[in-house]
Amino acid sequence: MRSEPASTTPAIFDVSGLTKIYKTGDVEVRALNGVDLMLETGEMAVLLGPSGSGKSTLLNIVGGLDRPTSGSVKFKGEELSGASDRELTAYRRNHVGFVFQFYNLIPSLTAWENVALITEVASNPMSASEALALVGLESRINHFPAQLSGGEQQRVAIARAIAKRPEVLLCDEPTGALDSATGIIVLEALARVNEETGATTAIITHNAGIREIAHRVYTFLDGRIASCEFNEKRIKPSEVSW
Ligand code: ADP
Repeated sequence: MRSEPASTTPAIFDVSGLTKIYKTGDVEVRALNGVDLMLETGEMAVLLGPSGSGKSTLLNIVGGLDRPTSGSVKFKGEELSGASDRELTAYRRNHVGFVFQFYNLIPSLTAWENVALITEVASNPMSASEALALVGLESRINHFPAQLSGGEQQRVAIARAIAKRPEVLLCDEPTGALDSATGIIVLEALARVNEETGATTAIITHNAGIREIAHRVYTFLDGRIASCEFNEKRIKPSEVSW
């Protein structure tokens, strides 16, 4: 690993001094405590760190699902932290795809229909069939979620997230509910999407073995960034030791 990025392309995210304090009654939780972080366009980043270290809070803020208490989040140079609710909604809708640990598919709709729900409201989507082919599910498009394995359901969720051609794909523990063989297939789908669509991809994981598939690895500890490293040589998801 080296300590400096080689690329000179403009950052897609530039986060500085980010703080998030959750207040519940008199109790304050400092979930983020001065986070500085940068992601370059098109890269794949892995966010590691123990439970409660602030990874999801950071992902939710850069994805426009939540707001910081203080600090700055710039998306392609535009400040997000002062955006109105309407601007944040437009930002999420036009630029961000989310993948979570649980797939949240609609059980009464087929894989194709689950993805088409999104392509119908997006401005420049790929077709649902194209999105499902990108994650290797072309032969499963007419299956209902209950007829698909956990890994296949997660790949439908990835297809749904990327069908609108988001510039950013944010994944919170996408393999958290999966066994190793299935998790690797899901990571292969994410790596392919990152390569073929160029979507800047951030993956939260507990699994340190996954770090080597990333261009960049941020490690969180107690609401701060403990380290940022760059992989000189990335490995394929199939080479990950789980
Ligand atoms: P991670 O993703 O690394 O597990 P989180 O960002 O989910 O960490 O949580 C960071 C800290 O913030 C934890 O102490 C968590 O309990 C707290 N936290 C997260 N969301 C909320 C919330 N909505 N209300 C209160 N506390 C929260």
